[in-house]
Amino acid sequence: MPTPTDRVRRTKRSSIRVMFDLAERHDGDLVRLEVGEPDFDTPDHVIDAAMRAARGGATGYTSNAGLPACRDAIRERLAADYDVAYGREEIVVTVGGMEALHLAVLASVSPGEEVVAPGPTWPNYATQASLADGRFREVPMPAEAGFDLDADRMIEAMGEETGAVVLTTPSNPTGRVFDPDACRAVVEAAADHDAYVIADEVYLALTYDREPEAIAGYTDRPEHVLTVGSCSKTYAMTGWRLGWLAGDTHLIDEVVKVRESTTACASNIAQHAAIAALTGPQKPAEEMYRAFKRRRDLVVDRVESIDGLSCPRPEGAFYAFLDPDIDGDALPLAKHLLTEHGVVLAPGDGFGEAGRGRLRLSFANSSARIEEGFDRVEAGLATYE
Ligand code: PLP
Repeated sequence: MPTPTDRVRRTKRSSIRVMFDLAERHDGDLVRLEVGEPDFDTPDHVIDAAMRAARGGATGYTSNAGLPACRDAIRERLAADYDVAYGREEIVVTVGGMEALHLAVLASVSPGEEVVAPGPTWPNYATQASLADGRFREVPMPAEAGFDLDADRMIEAMGEETGAVVLTTPSNPTGRVFDPDACRAVVEAAADHDAYVIADEVYLALTYDREPEAIAGYTDRPEHVLTVGSCSKTYAMTGWRLGWLAGDTHLIDEVVKVRESTTACASNIAQHAAIAALTGPQKPAEEMYRAFKRRRDLVVDRVESIDGLSCPRPEGAFYAFLDPDIDGDALPLAKHLLTEHGVVLAPGDGFGEAGRGRLRLSFANSSARIEEGFDRVEAGLATYE
């Protein structure tokens, strides 16, 4: 019998996916708060632009790097919103932020080198490191500081073997917006080690309590920073699969070359949709932003009202990382909440060692469903042994 490679077989399924599958098989009304995607529709003007593009013949391949107008739309938005200056040649349009991350890891991490990320952390980075024949190292951040970036811990974990450091801010799963000075220190240390910093900023536009800042703006050694962004979360466009990777041409040129053999280019139609999203009216995105912020406030209030439950204040993204104050893994508790109380949360164990015993709640759902979800969580915690 032929055998698939170790490279693919060693990839583990995340416990988030386990909950998703259990929920799909469950009969009865469930409040689904495990899903990390906006519950809004893509804005009308974006859909109209895509329809026009498809009817107008934009149905073929584009160049590997993407349509010039799409690269310019990304460049201009990054400059307008975060004051970071990328040239058109420094931007590749990708199949979602996921492809951007995959390409960034492939291009920055040699076999045996490490991808270092502060924990708790999004599980895909470990898989991407493994697919690049690299290793993944989670550096647990202090829970008592709300999982904010601790530069000393990160710097201590970095060395000759570091290929890339991933900074996800705002964070999935904690919603934490990392301290700017800590980010600066980590970027400088990475640069000193000749490593890259992959700045996963797919949630950057969803920053609630302060002005969003891009990591590329934190250093005068920008050749070490690879910026990952996406239309998915900001414009409710997860299914369009449209993101980007921005960085110095010494790396971007390599990425443009290598992706010829993977996806070749992002969907032509989706690139036209992205141009409309990025350069058209921002009002729909602002309305979604305000809705997420209101729900964030609701979540904070509800968590405070439940005995034995706490979470770091989500400062961005649409996640609250709940601490139900239990011993051990959260998967049994997540299963109990699903089967006995009809509410689905993602077990924190899926986000690494630092997430053990926690539950990630996504507030990308209506206020009414969030309220209902919290009622069920409250009842479920009261009956959990
Ligand atoms: N980065 C983080 C932290 C995410 O949570 C996600 C999606 O959930 C992505 C990147 C990629 O999103 P997309 O490929 O839809 O742009």
